[in-house]
Amino acid sequence: MEVTDVVCPLCGCVCDDVVVEVEDNKVTKVKGACAVGKSKLMGHGRITSPAIRENGILKDCSYDAAIKRTAEILAAARRPLMYGWSSTVCEASKVGIELAEEIGAVIDNTASVCHGPSVLAIQDVGLPSCTLGEVKNRADLVIYWGANPAAAHGNHMKRYSYISKGYFLPEGKKEKKLAVVDVRETKSAKLADVFIRIEPGKDYLVLSALRALLLGYEDVVPEEVGGVPKKDLLELVKMMEETKFGIIFFGMGVTHSRGRHNNIVNAIQVTRAAHKHTKFNIMPMRGHYNVNGFNQVCTWETGFPYSVDLSEGYAWYNPGETSSTDLLMRGECDAALFIATDPGAHFPGESIRHLSKIPVIQIDPYANPTTEFADVVIPAAISGIEAEGTVYRMDNIPLRLRKIVDTEYMTDEAIMKGILKETRLLTLSRRL
Ligand code: SF4
Repeated sequence: MEVTDVVCPLCGCVCDDVVVEVEDNKVTKVKGACAVGKSKLMGHGRITSPAIRENGILKDCSYDAAIKRTAEILAAARRPLMYGWSSTVCEASKVGIELAEEIGAVIDNTASVCHGPSVLAIQDVGLPSCTLGEVKNRADLVIYWGANPAAAHGNHMKRYSYISKGYFLPEGKKEKKLAVVDVRETKSAKLADVFIRIEPGKDYLVLSALRALLLGYEDVVPEEVGGVPKKDLLELVKMMEETKFGIIFFGMGVTHSRGRHNNIVNAIQVTRAAHKHTKFNIMPMRGHYNVNGFNQVCTWETGFPYSVDLSEGYAWYNPGETSSTDLLMRGECDAALFIATDPGAHFPGESIRHLSKIPVIQIDPYANPTTEFADVVIPAAISGIEAEGTVYRMDNIPLRLRKIVDTEYMTDEAIMKGILKETRLLTLSRRL
């Protein structure tokens, strides 16, 4: 059976034109996805059963037993952390936030270690942006800054930006220009009309120089800024001034270099300075397919997008204090639930050392380094393949993931509902 309009559940591009062939309830062929998207849709090794660690060894158990044990751990915890949520659907996040309120947890998603600085900058100065559809149909200048889509967002250029053919740009890349700003010549930079190599940690300076040039203050810009000759900056500014519709896509090369959220504030101000000449936009290259969705749901529910502390009965948001790695490095948490994420591979060593001392629950379709120290492991259906749900693309457009094969595994949403129900029974009986 051929299934069309499948939505890829991997990166923030959320490509929704993938075609898969299904035979005997298995995906056998994938068309239209990039290599990493194809690999996910084709499937690979799974956690086969829920399990609880006893005497250092994970022992298989039923879903009921794993959910009950999770509820016991969370209900007994004084400072629980609930982290992940970027590779699951909004419906699961919604139940997760309800559970976090119930137990007074800190709830956080992977934005706190990736585009968190972008979110902070957007809260400061807003975001002059657009949809990826507008980029495809209108953008004749695309700038990737600190981002390498050729490696990390395989279809981004082809579907939405430089290589795509749009309504107003039917000739595709013949009518477009591509500029890449980065600290090294990436695969994406090799395709660019203009590549600007900057010195590491000098994004803020280069952005400031571009702002000055766009606003007409060429006299204050020195002959070299951040390792970039002024003539190269003038060339980029000329391209920006002459475009009809420009877009800056920025990645973690900017959010996590020196200056962090201030870099993004400056990049947004560069976009505003370009408005003196033409239509210009800016957009973060969000990584996981629903990292944005959690930020949306968390904002509806608590007023804040991530790193929300609910321990006092109201929402307290202070990234740097209430973000997961900071809490763990201070040794504050006494239990942690991780869903659709792998802190074992990505958190700093000191955070992991603290995690090895407290009960850890993992909910995920796949085994990963976190499984090695998790005390309860709950396998989940793969959203977008075995379960449907809503996700938000990097341009804030909500899309519906499709279920394309049947499964015996519980969905993230059903698991979270089970944990919420069991935890409520325990917390209620304690109050009585
Ligand atoms: S670009 Fe991203 S969403 Fe699109 S197919 Fe590749 S991994 Fe999937």
